[in-house]
Amino acid sequence: MENIQLFVPTYRIEETLAEIRECLQIGWTGLGFKTDKFEKAWVEFTGLRHAHFINSATAGLHLAVELLGEQGDWKPGDEIITTPITFVSTNHAILYAGFTPVFADVDESLNLSPEEVERAITPRTRAVMFVGMGGNPANLREVMQICRNRKLKLILDAAHMAGTRVGSDHVGIEADATVFSFQAVKNLPTGDSGMVCFADASLDAEARKRSWLGINKNTFQRTAQLGSYRWEYDVEATGYKYNGSSIMAAIGLVALRYLDQDNAYRRQIAKWYDAKLFGLNGDVTPVIHELGSSRHLYQISARDRDALMVAMNAAGVFPGVHYKDNRHYRMYDRPGADQTVAWKLSEGLVSLPLHVRLTYADVDRVVSTICSFYSRKG
Ligand SMILES: *Cc1c(COP(=O)(O)O)cnc(C)c1O
Repeated sequence: MENIQLFVPTYRIEETLAEIRECLQIGWTGLGFKTDKFEKAWVEFTGLRHAHFINSATAGLHLAVELLGEQGDWKPGDEIITTPITFVSTNHAILYAGFTPVFADVDESLNLSPEEVERAITPRTRAVMFVGMGGNPANLREVMQICRNRKLKLILDAAHMAGTRVGSDHVGIEADATVFSFQAVKNLPTGDSGMVCFADASLDAEARKRSWLGINKNTFQRTAQLGSYRWEYDVEATGYKYNGSSIMAAIGLVALRYLDQDNAYRRQIAKWYDAKLFGLNGDVTPVIHELGSSRHLYQISARDRDALMVAMNAAGVFPGVHYKDNRHYRMYDRPGADQTVAWKLSEGLVSLPLHVRLTYADVDRVVSTICSFYSRKG
């Protein structure tokens, strides 16, 4: 029997190659051309005010924290409330910009708990970094309201949220900055790339320079310019090499055409899992998502997690874990971390295989391996 993998990205190969071929034919694979097209398509798809295409979500999170910090005159060591259940780049981005990550607790949704966010606020708090785990927008509205009331900035790490909607609105519209990942195994896969979407037009403009070493005119703009000073530019700040390329944007443009369709199938797979797993009396508890979730992940909290994963691997099924509580890592170690909901939940987390090539029979097989593990264990 074939192995069942956690994530298998699906590319519409001929359509994607046609987009890439255009780049190769005109001889433009870098910044501009398809990156401009993808930014426009993303704004149209999401309804967000701006979108700037960069080479990763990590880069976008860094730009978001740095530029909001400059605009608000935050001081080194000022605090950003964040979650311990995330990919480390969320929290690294806070440190890149010289601020302090303050961990608040999550609830059963694996997203930050609004009450715990409120409790973590101090006079030095400047922002909240919210991660919509697996695409789930649970608690986002409540946290947004807290940010508004307490005059804090909201940064949404939407790495799992391409295509997540709350009602008819795409998530991110009310955040100060929303950052998407189009990394190789996200639900809108390219190779490596991302999108940073600022609410404020001046920050969007600044991000475009900052992602291009601080240079105030990119090559694409200069090529469009007339006259013999097309080579001329000024450098305004110590920027970074964070821009996206037209090859990645070409892949993303095609993936975007299929995003809603793919997410709908992800939600279908999640329903199949739900129907089979609810009722596995306490051994397994599925994480519940709100309706519009992109369903980047299907997570369960499982008794005897490590042994379960070994048994699944032996049966040719390869689940994952998202994530280990970041306070397990030396640099984010905090006293008392093991007493939190986040820590305890993360000990049991398993992400079951979820991708658009999965069939009903595959879901059945994944669940069977889980059932036979627990009945064997009694
Ligand atoms: C993948 C991921 C990131 C980083 O995305 P890159 O595009 O790989 O930099 C950030 N946050 C979360 C929650 C992620 O899953």
